Amino acid sequence: MKVRAPSADSRYDDVRTLVHGQRLHTICEEARCPNIAECWGRGTATFQILGDTCTRACRYCDVHSGKPDRPPDPLEPLRLAQVAARLGLEHVVVTSVDRDDLPDRGAGHYAATIRALKAKLPAASVEVLTPDFLGCEEEALRVVLAERPEVFNHNIETVRRLHPHMRGAKASYDGALRLLRRAKELADYPLLTKSGVIVGLGESNDEVVETLRDLRAHDVDVVTIGQYLRPSPKHAPIDRWVHPDEFRWFTEQGEAMGFGSVFAGPLVRSSYRADEQKHAATTSS
Ligand code: SF4
Repeated sequence: MKVRAPSADSRYDDVRTLVHGQRLHTICEEARCPNIAECWGRGTATFQILGDTCTRACRYCDVHSGKPDRPPDPLEPLRLAQVAARLGLEHVVVTSVDRDDLPDRGAGHYAATIRALKAKLPAASVEVLTPDFLGCEEEALRVVLAERPEVFNHNIETVRRLHPHMRGAKASYDGALRLLRRAKELADYPLLTKSGVIVGLGESNDEVVETLRDLRAHDVDVVTIGQYLRPSPKHAPIDRWVHPDEFRWFTEQGEAMGFGSVFAGPLVRSSYRADEQKHAATTSS
């Protein structure tokens, strides 16, 4: 796999200067995403709210894990909205670390961020890629959806068999499916729901298709599938390199199931060209 370096007309430096200048985090940097030159070069980024320390420790994830040492920064939503406006984003993707230490698991901070974005960028659409809000799912969904994000994304990450091993005891495959379905049920407006699968962790292609079927059965509209890249030797090893033809096959399978958009490829990530994913799902419905 090859990724491009930032080109001469790239907006990479603008994004970097704005993001760092406003002391924001992005999943692009925290997860060392291979697409950063391309995405930041296009003037887009995926913001990571609620700090840089995650209370979970998934075996494939490079985000720093531990005990967060501070509450959410109440001014972060405002700074994030200002940066999104300066970048002229038409579709803003916001994700976060897991914050099991917070009574609302960070739902209120998501809501404040969506509110700030809608106030500053009324024409932009907002996509939230949330944690599972363990233990307060229903209330957290109500708080987040009250601000009417256009896309609700929650990644199932891996197939049912590997889920406990890769994600730990707190995360649940069926819980992820329930959260996605409940988001769709609770929204009183046309909400797109979305999820993502990482391949190369030890699953079979049939298990991937089974996961797509589960997502579709829970009314998910958009799905992404991408190759696992091992961040360090302490993370789960790569089980296999999935061939581009296999990714094409996943796309065909997903489309046949009725997803509005299926993005599958070695370097596809949940937020990769998220504006195009949303557009594809909107125009197909
Ligand atoms: S794919 Fe997503 S996480 Fe990766 S660089 Fe692009 S916006 Fe950032």
